[in-house]
Amino acid sequence: MSNADRPWYRRLHWQVFIAMALGILTGAVFGEPAAARIGWIGDLFMELLRMIIIPLVLTSIIAGVATVGGGSTIGRLFSKTLGYYVLSSSLAVVTGLALVNLIRPGVGSDIGGAVSQELPELSTPSSPIELLFDVVPENVIQAAANTEMLAIIFFSIVFGASISVLPERTRTILTDLFDALFQTMMKLTNGIIFFLPLGVYGLITTMVGTTGFSAFRALAFYVVTLGAGLTVHLFIGLPLLLILLGRISPKIHFANMREPLLVAFSTSSSGATLPVTMAAVEEKVGVSNRVGSFVLPMGATVNMDGTALFECVGALFIAQALGFDLSLVQQAVVVLTAILASIGAAAVPSAGLVVIFIVLEAINLRGPEVNVIVGSMLAIDRPLDMYRTAVNVFSDSCGAAIIARSEGETEVDQVAR
Ligand code: ASP
Repeated sequence: MSNADRPWYRRLHWQVFIAMALGILTGAVFGEPAAARIGWIGDLFMELLRMIIIPLVLTSIIAGVATVGGGSTIGRLFSKTLGYYVLSSSLAVVTGLALVNLIRPGVGSDIGGAVSQELPELSTPSSPIELLFDVVPENVIQAAANTEMLAIIFFSIVFGASISVLPERTRTILTDLFDALFQTMMKLTNGIIFFLPLGVYGLITTMVGTTGFSAFRALAFYVVTLGAGLTVHLFIGLPLLLILLGRISPKIHFANMREPLLVAFSTSSSGATLPVTMAAVEEKVGVSNRVGSFVLPMGATVNMDGTALFECVGALFIAQALGFDLSLVQQAVVVLTAILASIGAAAVPSAGLVVIFIVLEAINLRGPEVNVIVGSMLAIDRPLDMYRTAVNVFSDSCGAAIIARSEGETEVDQVAR
C-alpha cells in the first residue's frame, strides 16, 4: 500500500506532526529533565542517519556517474548544477538584503539583555586553495571516516567516471554491482525512515526543553526579519524557480518533499537529512539517480540558500546593532561573502553561525562586542537553524527537479505521492 492510500494516522508525515506536537508538550511541561531522559532517542536516530550517509553517497554517485559516463554529459550536468546553486543562493541573499534594509532589525536593539553562549568549534576552509585541498583527499578511507563530504564526492565521481570507460564486460559487472549496492542502501534508508516519528519526538523534546524563551524578546526583530526572509524564499523565491525554470507545480513538489522537510526541521542538519532527501527526490519526485546523485550530495554540502540568507541578515543585523551604516560597496561585500560562507558551512547544526565571522571579517567587524552579539544569537539559534536547514534542503530538491526536467525527465513531479 502506498503512503497516499493509507488512513491519515498511518501516513508518515501525520505521525511526524503528532510526534512534534508531543515533543513540544513534553519539552514545555518537563523542561531540561525531559531533554536529559528522552534526548537519547533523537541522538540515536541521528546516528542511524549518519551511519548510512557515506555508503549511500558513495554507491549512489558511483552508480549514477558510471551509467552517465565521463566527458561531455558529466560536464553538462556539472555546469547546470553549479549554475543553479549560484542562482538560488544569490536570490536568497538578495531577499535577505532587501528585508534587513527594510525592517532594520538591529537599529536600537537591546542585546545586553540576551543570554550569551560560547560558539562550538568547527573548522572551515580559510581560502579557495584550502577548499581545493579539502576536495582532493590524501586518503579516501580517512576522508570517509571523518565524513569529509566534498572529498568523498570527488572520489566517487572520478571512480564512477573510470568505470564508465572500462571494456564492456568489466564495466557491466561494476555498474551492476554498484547499482545493486545503491538499491540496498535505499532499502536501508527507508527502514530507518520508518522510525522517523520516534526520532523527531526525541529531537523536538530536547530542543524545547533546553532553549530558553527570554532571549527571544531582545532579538525579536532579528528573529522576525530572518523568519520573513526564509519564508519569502521558501514560499515565493524557490517556487518561482520551479515554475519558471522547470515548469513544475510547487504544490506537488512540496507534497513530495514533506518528509525531508520535516527531517531537516527536526535535525537541523542537511547532512543527516541527505538519505531522506535522496529517497524522496528519487522515489517520490521521480528524479533519476543519474541526476539526483549528482545534485543532492554536493548540494547538501555547498548549496545552502537558508544559510546564505542568514549570513547576510545576521551580519547586517550586527552592523546595525553596533551603529554602523554600511555603504553600498560594503553591502555588496556582505552579499558575496555570505554566499562563500554558506558554501564553507558544514551541513551540521549551528555551522552557519560559526562561519558568520567570515562575513564580519570582510567588513572589518570584530572585537568583544561582536562576540557577545554572536553569542546571544547562538542562544536562540536552534529554531532558526531548523528553519534555514529546511530551506537548504528544499533548494537542493528544487535544483534536482529542475535539472532533471531540463534533461528530458518528463515524469518529474507529475503527481504527489
Ligand atoms: N544547519 C544548517 C544545515 O545543516 C547549516 C547552518 O547552520 O546554517 O544545513
